[in-house]
Amino acid sequence: MIIDCAFDEKLSDEIASYLKEKRFDIVKEKDSIITTSDPRVTKDELEYYLKKTGKIKELQIIPSDSDTVIIAKKVMIEHFGLSRCTICGFVTYKEDLISHERSHGIQIM
Ligand SMILES: [Zn+2]
Repeated sequence: MIIDCAFDEKLSDEIASYLKEKRFDIVKEKDSIITTSDPRVTKDELEYYLKKTGKIKELQIIPSDSDTVIIAKKVMIEHFGLSRCTICGFVTYKEDLISHERSHGIQIM
């Protein structure tokens, strides 16, 4: 698995030392990327870490492909007045999202 901390070097250091503490077999690469072939390192394990440290409030784990997860700040979207479509993941301005979601055939009450 590849854990991409979205250029947050400090975060990747913290996650790397947490995983090492738990004796997971991981490698800290450059550019805030952690790689591992240890099957015990899972998305759940990362989520547990984010919850335990309270980081879950500002960070989210985004599965990128079957082998990669990205850990990035939630505010990146909301900070710019953007919202994400709950159906397809399309990101747009909040005002435009309603008409976008309607295009999926949802009735907004
Ligand atoms: Zn959509």
